[in-house]
Amino acid sequence: MVVIFMVEKEDLAIFGGKPVRGKDDPLPQVFPRIFPKKALDYVREVVESGLTSNIEERFKRAFAEACGVKNVVTVANCTAAVHAAIAALELGPRDEVVVSAISDYGSVAGVIAEGALPVFSDVDVRNGCVTAEEIEKVITPRTKAMVVVHWYGLMCDMDPIIDIARDRGITVIEDCCQNPLGEYKGRKAGTIGDMGCFSFDPEKHLSAGGGGAVITNSDEIAKKVDKFANLRGAEFIPHYGRKHTSFGLNYRWSTLNAALGLAKLEVLPEENRRRVELANMLNKRLEEIDGVIPIYIPDGCSHLYWLYALQLDISKFKVDIWQISDALNAELSGLSCSPAPYYLLPESVTYLSQRYPNIKYGAHMVPNAKTHIYRVIRWCWTHKYTKRDVEDIGKAVDKVLSYYHK
Ligand SMILES: *Cc1c(COP(=O)(O)O)cnc(C)c1O
Repeated sequence: MVVIFMVEKEDLAIFGGKPVRGKDDPLPQVFPRIFPKKALDYVREVVESGLTSNIEERFKRAFAEACGVKNVVTVANCTAAVHAAIAALELGPRDEVVVSAISDYGSVAGVIAEGALPVFSDVDVRNGCVTAEEIEKVITPRTKAMVVVHWYGLMCDMDPIIDIARDRGITVIEDCCQNPLGEYKGRKAGTIGDMGCFSFDPEKHLSAGGGGAVITNSDEIAKKVDKFANLRGAEFIPHYGRKHTSFGLNYRWSTLNAALGLAKLEVLPEENRRRVELANMLNKRLEEIDGVIPIYIPDGCSHLYWLYALQLDISKFKVDIWQISDALNAELSGLSCSPAPYYLLPESVTYLSQRYPNIKYGAHMVPNAKTHIYRVIRWCWTHKYTKRDVEDIGKAVDKVLSYYHK
């Protein structure tokens, strides 16, 4: 082990020592969200127009152009987006949908709602993202679709995934909540598979205070998604009105949120660029520290760092990951980091075992995902950090890990 500096117990803030960043000088946080000045103009436009503004249409056009995709269907959130994507495929009982084992609950809720069977794919233990190799292990003749999650903001290695899906006629849905405008070999997130699902939740990069979208190059799929999520399954018949020709819901987005979304979209590329620049600085700093396992970034995959993941070889430390996380929070006021085992869906979605009693859902299904999630401390990354903030994060990680190193 390279000892950068000797750390005594009483040096650690958690035991009363001086923190790297105290309460009087906290790190910047994701909130309050910063909106460009234009946001107020757009909101005013919506109000002054008496809700007749075409701002949602303008958002759709701008987002389609930014992603390089033909169709954007906006919806209320990404849980709704994935639900609508599954519904558009008209899946039901006896159909299986492969879902990344590590994700937000929104990646799987729609699969369950439509009565299809969620089948969890294990991940690359080095980064928490699914791989073609792991997906292939759980594919059966009943597999109709897969929800591939670009976890932390890191693109999955898509070409091999697309290859196995195309061979078998499986629809690929990309969950791009954590990497809007992320790239894979020059193509934008959500345009590599058949559909891309997005969240405009307050916490996400493209924060509009709420919202979501499904993007696709297929006019037919876009129409079905829109019919399910926005038209409540209805078709308009002249001299009659709505006929509900399929089941649908009201997952509409709001015009006021679209105003915030359009403003945020205009600054997103620059904010993304800054996030990546800062994260790369921290990556470089942490490379020097024994016990840190860098997140593996496959060739051609961009990482937009919705979360920063500090991945540790926990066998090298005297305490568990929770104690390391508590010690880090004590050093860095404003950081708010923690492990997040609840992202391990087959374990955290406990009602699955009641709904499908023949299947034993649990962490045992996905050993890599389990290993990965229980060795990562994560926090929401922000473009607001300065170089000094990143240096202090590096210093605090070094300090805490040096003390706890075996
Ligand atoms: C945030 C998130 C969701 C859910 O998005 P909502 O807009 O809150 O419904 C789904 N998948 C992933 C990967 C997410 O990060």
